[in-house]
Amino acid sequence: MNLILLGPPGAGKGTQAKRLEERRGLVQLSTGDMLRAERASGTALGKKVQAIMDSGQLVSDEIMVDLIAARIDRLPKGQGFILDGFPRTQRQAEALDAMLAKKGLRLDYIIEMKVDESALVNRLAGRFSCTNCGASYHDVHHRPKHEDVCDVCGSRDFVRRPDDRPETVKARLKTYRELTAPILPYYRAKGVLRTVDGMAPIDRVAAEIESVLERPGAASNG
Ligand code: AMP
Repeated sequence: MNLILLGPPGAGKGTQAKRLEERRGLVQLSTGDMLRAERASGTALGKKVQAIMDSGQLVSDEIMVDLIAARIDRLPKGQGFILDGFPRTQRQAEALDAMLAKKGLRLDYIIEMKVDESALVNRLAGRFSCTNCGASYHDVHHRPKHEDVCDVCGSRDFVRRPDDRPETVKARLKTYRELTAPILPYYRAKGVLRTVDGMAPIDRVAAEIESVLERPGAASNG
């Protein structure tokens, strides 16, 4: 099963993708994580995208399409995946369709996580994650069970994203509204878009996604 989680920054795509990895054995393909890894290893690509990411803009479609194509190529045959943070523009959405068709793959579900934009600055400003395993937390909504210890791996190292600062969050939301939200009608017109309430508590959102996955997906749309 292959799916896309779509929604603005802070909608909870990463959190739900991690849940789906555990429950369904799917692999999370987060283009944001891939770019952060490039930056952390100091590659040419990492250096090139640094300023763009920190200003809340989008990296070019060519770079992103190549990055995701290479990653999908490396998956073991039959391994299902969750796209998190890709596609983010109409051109990426169209390139993805072409790329998957060429590889004989298809998208079964495109799930929009709908959230109230006014809540997102606070959501993002409070979030942090485990440096070791990537588990995500929030100062108010989802603190580790034991103060300063990761629930998943026990690490005590946490990190906050520089682009979660309120000024940059506003730029990222603007980018989402202008470039990414317009791809929703593209998927709606294909009849494959499903919407869940991203404002609900994490477990409720997870349950809603499960109920979407239990219903027939794109394959049955013909
Ligand atoms: P994310 O972790 O998904 O919020 O991504 C962090 C940043 O990486 C974004 O603000 C963009 O600058 C860049 N980025 C991630 N995915 C994409 C994409 N599909 N297209 C363009 N830029 C991206």
